[in-house]
Amino acid sequence: MLHLYNEIIVFIVGAMVGSFLNVCIHRLPLEEEVVFTPSHCPHCNQAIHWWDNIPLLSWLALRGRCRHCKQGISLQYPLVELSAALLALHLYLRFGLTWEALALVVLGFAFIVLTVIDLFHYILPDVITKPGIAIGLLFATPAYFGLPLLGKPFPAPTDAWLGALIGGGGLWSFAWLFERFTGREGMGMGDVKLLALIGAWMGWQALPFTLFAASLLGSIVGVTWILIWGRDRHLPIPFGPYLTISSWVYIFVGPQVYHWYFNLFRPLA
Ligand SMILES: [Zn+2]
Repeated sequence: MLHLYNEIIVFIVGAMVGSFLNVCIHRLPLEEEVVFTPSHCPHCNQAIHWWDNIPLLSWLALRGRCRHCKQGISLQYPLVELSAALLALHLYLRFGLTWEALALVVLGFAFIVLTVIDLFHYILPDVITKPGIAIGLLFATPAYFGLPLLGKPFPAPTDAWLGALIGGGGLWSFAWLFERFTGREGMGMGDVKLLALIGAWMGWQALPFTLFAASLLGSIVGVTWILIWGRDRHLPIPFGPYLTISSWVYIFVGPQVYHWYFNLFRPLA
């Protein structure tokens, strides 16, 4: 049992940070302060006691209702806490207690916040994407001067810079041209900044995989949606969540998928 202690601690800390991510998800789109304002019920505004604010457990104990006004508390709260806990646990099991794991935890938490905000508000807040791009480049750059900060799966400095440049610049031009020629907005500027962020953290190599997997995932969800609801009901899912999920998958299987794909075209010897 003793050897499971670390896993349990990582899971609990992950769930606790997940609780803070919920606060960010709720307050960032409203441009509210996230650190110092105590938690309060969004319906009745009553302050929430710490014992009613324990990740996962309180939601279960209160059966998803506010203690004061009995209004429902969104399933988003325990789901985000559980995702954050599982993400931290998975990275710990995969990379151990390393700087790489810690940096990926930060990226994963940012992805959770971006995904849920985009789902509900159709925005990817600059307050996360812009510093995200800068931090990714900051992590990668010292290696250029012979002082590598992070090893695999983080990219070499030139790959990270090219990633930010191609992800941001290339797709910005594409979005701009698309809008010019069709008069419709194909991709939001938020998606462009998210791709620059993905490029900065994972290298330009991640971009083709991410765009392809995101489009594939979007098509599968779209077709399923039409089969269930018919053509009339517009699919209410923005592109951001597909990008975060696809690029996250790239970290773990991307290079293997490329290897497999390019081997398909190698003539049989
Ligand atoms: Zn309430």
